[in-house]
Parts: sequence; structure tokens; C-alpha cells
Amino acid sequence: MHSIAYSSSSSRNRNLMIGAVCAVVLFLLVLNQNSLGDGSLSGGGYGGSSKGLSTSQEQLINNLVKSEVENALLSHMPKNTNSKKTSDNGLQVAELSESKRMRILVTGGAGFVGSHLVDRLMMAGHEVIVLDNFFTGRKKNVMHWVNHPNFQLISHDVVEPIMLEVDQIYHLACPASPPHYQYNPVKTIKTSTMGTLNMLGLAKRVKARILLTSTSEVYGDPEVHPQPETYWGNVNPIGPRACYDEGKRVAETMMYAYQKQSKVDVRVARIFNTFGPRMHPNDGRVVSNFIIQALQDKDITIYGNGEQTRSFQYVSDLVEGLIRLMNGDYDQPTNIGNPDEYTVNDFSKYIKELTKSSSVIKHLEATADDPRKRKPDISVAKRELGWEPKVDVKTGLAKTIEYFAGVLDEGGEIVPTGPDATKPKGGY
Ligand code: NAD
Ligand code: UDP
Ligand code: UDP
Repeated sequence: MHSIAYSSSSSRNRNLMIGAVCAVVLFLLVLNQNSLGDGSLSGGGYGGSSKGLSTSQEQLINNLVKSEVENALLSHMPKNTNSKKTSDNGLQVAELSESKRMRILVTGGAGFVGSHLVDRLMMAGHEVIVLDNFFTGRKKNVMHWVNHPNFQLISHDVVEPIMLEVDQIYHLACPASPPHYQYNPVKTIKTSTMGTLNMLGLAKRVKARILLTSTSEVYGDPEVHPQPETYWGNVNPIGPRACYDEGKRVAETMMYAYQKQSKVDVRVARIFNTFGPRMHPNDGRVVSNFIIQALQDKDITIYGNGEQTRSFQYVSDLVEGLIRLMNGDYDQPTNIGNPDEYTVNDFSKYIKELTKSSSVIKHLEATADDPRKRKPDISVAKRELGWEPKVDVKTGLAKTIEYFAGVLDEGGEIVPTGPDATKPKGGY
């Protein structure tokens, strides 16, 4: 674990400028809220107006997202492909030959991880269909692709069947933060079970490879440290986390039952705590909460004695791991995480230092069944995928702090979400 030394340069002035532009864009978007789905949304729920954004409004949005997305993705452009400007939003996507271009479904693609994955797949030149019910996801996470000819956004709940024609399915749809997945535990179970069943039925029908984003939570409160994939876990089947943990465990069981019985081509990623830009500001997770609290000089809230540990991975590393797993030959569960482990106590001090905050660190009551330690054994991913994390936590946190500073400048005060079950805050 860690000793901490880091100083970050303040980006307040730049963020103020970005914030002002964002405010204008948001205002224009509110005026046009019913028209955002023009041509690219199906499945209902968007007011039915056929009016699109005006060119000048689109230009504003595009200018805003362009630098962020392009900077983030430039390093991932496929080599030896011709890059071509196919989008009226100015984003460059690679041109893939028909034999290499796939039609890829991303369920939960408007969420935090999903939207970063969509960026990578779009930039690589694939056709991407995002399917999302916007429970915790947000349209703005994928807004920069709406109207691109390779992109389709479908408002749909995976609990309901759907007929599509696709080559690969990244199945992410499921709330991931404890306060959000505990808000409607029955729905969380339905999403993991019925939703995964439907995606497996689809994969079987169209012979698509399907990847499930499972979780380190299948190990529960682990008695083995770090956790290898061979560890069967220690999960309370009736506790507050069970709707998520057991839901994912059943989802994994279904993946391998369909593989055995119906020869469906499956991949299972067990994801460990991941952070980065586009995390939901109200998801109540430790990274977002501590950063938001520190940036506003509010109390930093530690649940319990703070000696529990987590290991934090930056989102671009996760996306690289998912793509490698999907396109490789290895079909057994694979941990994708960064073994860089911190106690929550140390992590709170780290965030405080990075943000130069005057927040007070405060201990609240421990939450039920909170895993006491967590760290991935990533030897399988190293061996089978040639993958390991590339972005250190310090670098990832600097980008995430900058992101949340921008969100605060743009939208004003954020009241952090506590440990209790909470409905995700809406907003496009
Ligand atoms: P997120 O909440 O940002 O994204 C989940 C997305 O799924 C959202 O866009 C949400 O609207 C959508 N969704 C939820 N229920 C749905 C339903 N019934 N039908 C259609 N869409 C639905 O979470 P995330 O952090 O991006 O997580 C993505 C996936 O990765 C999840 O499956 C999660 O379990 C897994 N995972 C994430 C982490 C992490 O640290 N972020 C860790 C382990 C596993
Ligand atoms: N399914 C779906 N889309 C498809 C194919 C199947 O949503 O393209 C759903 C289907 O409605 C069913 C589930 O997937 O609820 C499982 O399908 P499967 O064919 O395995 O089972 P069955 O329909 O025979 O029960
Ligand atoms: N946590 C905390 N304060 C917060 C949010 C989370 O102390 O404001 C703790 C939480 O109790 C857990 C750890 O941080 O021990 C990670 O919590 P998170 O919800 O981010 O992820 P998960 O528990 O699902 O790994």
C-alpha cells in the first residue's frame, strides 16, 4: 500500500471557462429536450418531436466534446487503418473494411464504463448500438455520437426481450453503485437475471459472442487475499448487497449454462473498483464522494473505521481489458482491475492532499456487509490477454478531479449521496 505525495496545478480558470460554455449548452439543450432523439432513438419515451438540434447548437456541443474525446482516444486509434472524417460532429473514426467492421451491441452503454467503451468501439470504426433504460446512465455520455451514421441509441430495458442483428454483445446494463443498486433491489435482480437471459437468448439466436461485466463482488467479503478467479467467494445471500452480488453470480452461471447447453460464445470479466470522468456525481461511491466532498471543502465521510481496503483502476485500462477479453480466445472468468490497494483512511487523506482541500475527515457508522479487503490477482489477464493496467492511480485521479471540478463549475453545489439506498438523480 501507499505513501502519498503529489501536487496538482489548479485548473480553476480553465474550468470556469468550460463551465460557462457548458451552461450555455445545457440551456440550449433544455430548450430542445424533446428533440434530442431525432432519428437516433427508438423505443419511445422522448416526446416524439422530429425537430433536431440546430446546426449552431450542435456545433457548440461538438466543440465541447471534441477535445475531450479526441484527446482521450487518439492514443487508441487502430494502427494501419485509414482514418476518415465520417461524422458531422468532427470526430475522426477509423475506416474499417466490411470484413473487419462489426455491429456491436453495448447494453448499459450510456453509463460510466459503457460510454467509454462506446468511444473506443466507435473510434475503431465499428457500428455501435447502445441499449439503455437511463436508470443510472445519461444521454450526455454518448451525445457526441448521436447522428453519427455508425451509431444508434435505443431506449430499452433489458428485462424485456428485444430482436436485433449483431456480431458482438458487451452486456453491461446494471446499476453498479451500492446506493443505486439497493434502491430497487428486486429490479436489480431482474436486470441481472432476466436481462442477462434475454441477452443470452439474443446471442444464441444471432450467434454473437457475448461478454458479461461481472464484478469483484462475486467474491463477497473475501477470505482469500488477493482474489484469484479460482476463489468461490463469501457472499451473504440475504444481505443488502445480495441483489447485486447474487444477481451477478447467477448471471455468470447462466453464461456458462448457455455455453454448455447451446454453444453460446461467452466471456466473463470480473471488474474491480473503477473510476474516471463521467462517473455519476451522485453515485455515492468512494472515489466520486471523496473528490466531490474535498473540492467543496465539505466533510469527507468514511463509513466505519476506514481500515477496509479497495484497489482502484482507471477506466481506460478497464476498457482495454474488456476489448482484449472479447476478442481473445480465453473464455473463463477474468479479473480486470488494478492491484494498487489503499485503505479507505489513506485514500481519504490522498484525495484531500491532491485537491488541497480543507475538508474534515469524519467517520460514520459502518455499512452492513461492507467487504473488508479487496485486491485483484491479475495473473490470468496478464497471461491470457497480455493485459495489465497502464494508468497509475495518481494520474487517473488527477483527470477525475479535473472532471469533477468542471462538473461543479458547470452545475454548482453537489450534495454527496450517503450510504442509504437512493434513487439516482435524473437529468440528461
Ligand atoms: P453505471 O450505472 O454507470 O452504468 C450502468 C448502465 O446500465 C446505465 O447506463 C444504466 O442506465 C443501465 N441500466 C441499468 N439497468 C438497466 C436495464 N434494466 N436496462 C437497460 N439499461 C440498464 O455503472 P458502471 O460503473 O458503468 O458499470 C457498468 C457495468 O460494469 C455494470 O454491469 C457493473 O456491474 C459493472 N462493474 C462496474 C464496476 C465499477 O467500478 N464501475 C465494478 C464492477 C463491475
Ligand atoms: N430473446 C430475446 N431476443 C432474441 C432471442 C431471445 O430477447 O433475439 C429472449 C427470449 O424472449 C427469451 C430469452 O431471450 O426470454 C431466452 O431465449 P432462449 O431462446 O434461450 O429461450 P426460450 O425463448 O426458448 O425460453
Ligand atoms: N465509502 C466510504 N465513504 C463514502 C463512500 C464509500 O467510506 O462516502 C467506503 C465504503 O464503505 C467501502 C469503500 O468505500 O468500504 C468503497 O465503496 P464504493 O461504494 O465505492 O464501492 P464498493 O463498496 O462497491 O467496492
